[in-house]
Parts: sequence; C-alpha cells; structure tokens
Amino acid sequence: SGKHLLELINDILDISKIEAGMAEVNVTSFDLYSLLDGIEAMLHVKARAKQLELKFELNPELPQYVQTDENKLRQVLINLLENAIKFTKSGSVKLRVGFLSENSSSSSIPPSSPSSLRLQFEVEDTGNGIASEELEHIFDAFVQSNPTYQTEDGTGLGLAICKRFVQLMGGNIDIKSELGKGTVVQFNILISLAEQPAELTESLAKRRILGLKPNQPNNHILVVEDNWENRQLLLQILVPFGFEVIEATNGREAIELWESEQPNLILMDMRMPIVDGYEATKIIKQKIYENPTKCQNNTVIIALTATAFNEDRKFMLELGCNDFIRKPFQEDILLNKIARHLGVEYIYESEIDDNSISSSAQSNLEKSYKLTPEALKVMPKSWCESLHEQSNSCNQDSVLQLLSQIPQHYQNLKMQLEDLADNYQFDEIAKLSEQ
Ligand code: ADP
Repeated sequence: SGKHLLELINDILDISKIEAGMAEVNVTSFDLYSLLDGIEAMLHVKARAKQLELKFELNPELPQYVQTDENKLRQVLINLLENAIKFTKSGSVKLRVGFLSENSSSSSIPPSSPSSLRLQFEVEDTGNGIASEELEHIFDAFVQSNPTYQTEDGTGLGLAICKRFVQLMGGNIDIKSELGKGTVVQFNILISLAEQPAELTESLAKRRILGLKPNQPNNHILVVEDNWENRQLLLQILVPFGFEVIEATNGREAIELWESEQPNLILMDMRMPIVDGYEATKIIKQKIYENPTKCQNNTVIIALTATAFNEDRKFMLELGCNDFIRKPFQEDILLNKIARHLGVEYIYESEIDDNSISSSAQSNLEKSYKLTPEALKVMPKSWCESLHEQSNSCNQDSVLQLLSQIPQHYQNLKMQLEDLADNYQFDEIAKLSEQ
C-alpha cells in the first residue's frame, strides 16, 4: 500500500507537468500478467467487503512481457476499478483485456504485426451509473457527479489523470453509462512486445537471495540515515546477508567514517540534520576527485530518497551519487543495486535446491544464518543465564530487553536472536543460552 501511495503521489504531481506540456512517459519492460495479478489481489479485499464479484477476463493470447509506462497503466487501472467498486452497491465489477484491431473494433485475435499492439481495457460495473448531462464533463479535473452518490471520499481528479495518462500512452478513453444500470469505461494504449524482459532478469525477480557468496571482498557498507527505524531496517536486511555494515546518523559522521573506514559503498539518506546527504556526497566525491591515490576505493554512493521529482534525481546524480533508490524501497531492488555497483554475487534459493552450490558457500551461508551456543559466549555468563531463564518462561519483554544489551558490533547475533523472540521461538533461545 505504501508503495502504491507513493506512486500515486508522484503521478499526481506529474499531472502538473502534463499541464505544462513537459510530461514524460517512462517506458519499461514488465510482466503484464503480474501487474494485473497484483491489482486483482489488491482490490479483491475491497470488492469482497462489499460482496461484489470482481472478475478479470483476459484474452488468453495476451503477451506476458510488454513495454509501456507500467506505473501509469497501473494507476489508470486502479483508478477505474476503484471507482467501479466505490459506485457499485451490488453485482459485479469486471475488467476485460484484449486487443484492438486497426479498424478500432475489439478483437480477440492479436494483430499480425507482432512488435507493437494496441491493447484494449474495459472496466464494467453494475453500479449507480452517471447521468448523461454529467458525462460530457466527467473527464475534467475536479468534477464529481451527482452529490447524492458522494458517500465516499475522492478528489474528482482521478478520471482527469486517467485521460491524460492514456493519451500519453498513445491511446484514448471513453465512458458509457446509464443511470441505475452501470458504467463501462474503455481505453486503449499502444504497447510494444518485450522480447527479453531485461528489468525482470536484472531484478532476478523470482529468485530469493539468501546471502553473499563466500570470499567477496567488497562488502563493506556504510548506512547513513538519521531515522533509527530506517537504519534498523537496512541493517536487518544487510547484516544477515553477510555484509559488513557500519552506521552514521548524519552527513558529518558519514564523512568521518568514510575517511577512517573506507567503505565500498554508502547508502546515503538525503535529508538529515547537521550535514545533509547532498552536502556529504559532494564533499566525499570532491575528496576522491582531489586525491584519488589516497582513497583506495572509489566509494559508490547510492542516494536513498523519497523525493518525487525527476529533477531532484538528476541533481543527485550530478552531485556525484552513483545511483538512487526510492523510499520505501523493495529489498530485491536494494540488493540488486548493491550487487551491480560492488560486483558482489549472491547465493540464491534455487542454487541451494539444485545442490549446485559448493560446500564452502553453504557453510558461509550457514555461518550468517545459524546461531550456535558458542556465538552467545561473547556475552557475560550472568546475562546468558538470565536469557535462558526468561526464555524458558516465554517472557518476551524481558528477553527483548536483554537482547537490547548486546553491543552494537554484534548486530548479527542481536538481530537473529530478536528474530527468534519476535517469532516466539523461546525454546530455541533457551537451548542456545543453556550453559
Ligand atoms: P473521484 O472518484 O476521486 O471523485 P474521479 O475523477 O475518479 O474522481 O471520478 C469523478 C466522478 O465520476 C466521481 O466522483 C463519480 O461521481 C463519477 N464516477 C466515476 N466512475 C464512476 C463509476 N464507475 N460509476 C459511477 N460514477 C462514477
């Protein structure tokens, strides 16, 4: 939901660009089936809560990998389907996806030219409908129809955005409605077929990453983030994978740690107190530039940003950031960007299944994943005894309190134990802490 909300905000901000004639279409290759599956899963709950049937009828010939602006297509579909659910009290909401032939009629057969196609989407509901006099202005910004139906929230911007986005994607949109019977919104867009789903392969979307392969020297990461929760989130992802992680809470600390520790990569939040990420990046990159021999490694800086504007991203790259990741980020995007910049390799779940992994890789993985009673020996005996006692009585608060005493430099140990405590695996903790 957070991801969707952020995309929505970004796209609403983009409408001002459309108005200014500076709109951009960000064409990417993506999996159309998974986009539609995701939307269906997301809206299923809303429809079920109103006891509406939500049905997706997809032409079986639909290509799986396509090229168009994925975010805009997602937003248009969600907007139309959400409207349909919102303004329907009983019955059904259907999405049909098929092809539009050149003579502009719906067709079940894909056209003969395979490289680019016109896809037709149709959202049909059995809801309130819209009065004919209101229909002609329905795509104007801030228009909402008959106020008696306005039982739900809304801005009256949705359809205006949809229309502009559809036009940007090379198509047009049309609405037919009858009061008391229902509404049908149809739109078509031009798409290209994606032979090689480059971004999908790159993100290794379906393969779960389990950890770093052994003997990867470039695994030293500095996390710079003022927000404690955000910092913990990054640590919880990176440490168990086998990265060596150090932390800074503002740009000034980041510059000092960069100088003393020479990390291979910095994950840099941009908005921070004292010295912000922009300034810190500029200073670090300037130092590398002025004295390349002293800085053994040309530290990669990845900006972490919640910013919505493409201009800001351009600015960040100009400052010297090598890349950026939008917050809230997805774990696989983070890990794949790190791999791309550092040249590190991961162990994937399928490799374990295939038995194709070497035993040293296996043991490296186990090291970063398996806790042993020896690992707890770094803590005082009395602490281990208390942990054993509290976990035996399943006292989660006390266990977590004890775990909070594990020093910073044993983050890996701390996180794995916290993980057990969060999942109520107190018998495991009791076994580990038995002296
Ligand atoms: P919002 O839903 O945020 O108010 P939209 O631009 O998406 O804004 O919709 C504008 C208006 O069009 C809605 O307020 C509603 O009155 C009407 N409308 C849109 N879709 C439907 C639908 N499927 N059935 C009935 N009315 C609709």
